Amino acid sequence: MVRLKAPPKSKPFRFTSISGRRRIAKNIRSKTIPRQCGSVTFNPSEWPTNRPKGWNGPKTWKPSLDTLLTTTEGMCLLCGDETPKPNSCKCSLEAFRAKEAQWEKLFELKEVEGMGVGVFAKKRIGPRTVIGEYTGVLNPPGHLYDTSEVGYHVQVPLGPSISSKPCGSIDATHEGSFARFVNHSCNAKARFVTGRVGRTRVTAIMMKGNRAVKVGEQLTVDYGPWYFQGGQYCYCGYWRCRHLDPDARST
Ligand SMILES: [Zn+2]
Ligand SMILES: [Zn+2]
Repeated sequence: MVRLKAPPKSKPFRFTSISGRRRIAKNIRSKTIPRQCGSVTFNPSEWPTNRPKGWNGPKTWKPSLDTLLTTTEGMCLLCGDETPKPNSCKCSLEAFRAKEAQWEKLFELKEVEGMGVGVFAKKRIGPRTVIGEYTGVLNPPGHLYDTSEVGYHVQVPLGPSISSKPCGSIDATHEGSFARFVNHSCNAKARFVTGRVGRTRVTAIMMKGNRAVKVGEQLTVDYGPWYFQGGQYCYCGYWRCRHLDPDARST
């Protein structure tokens, strides 16, 4: 058996607090420190030995990043190619991720009153710009998340088809990209997309077709209704906010 040495801990995220200090970002409830991670990772021991219901990938069930996320469906988030299979582009995931590793040229993290840490633009971000990949640990369908922590995870279809059920999830609680800090708004300028780069499925945040973010403005995304099912409320401030705290409304 090969024993692997624990890899060196990667960088934490730093943000500017309301009082203007540089601080290390921590998870809101557990106070653990999330680390920067430039790719989706995978722990085979977390995956079931039987294939999940609805699996439409290779017949022999051998979970790996390759078998779970290889696809030719969807739009390439690097070149914009939408050619139907099997002639999809051959873009490099490494090239895409190298670009995202430079995220601090375009964005910064700042504390927002009542919202925790958010992502702010340092340059104007135009419509349909791919903001960044949502990275973290790829968890199997039905993975139970600790509900005492705020939900840093997004769903991702598994197998070659983009409309595939089952879905796994990418967990950015302990490691992820800066995309994990993008706050919800009921009037969001960006959205989550399931695309690909070359032949690898990539979940990312992308600007909507008719929206831009100005210098100094916060970037927001719509988390979807499921996020608010556990009795959480939204403080986005939009006049048509869909998840208002009923107590806050009356005061
Ligand atoms: Zn491409
Ligand atoms: Zn809202």
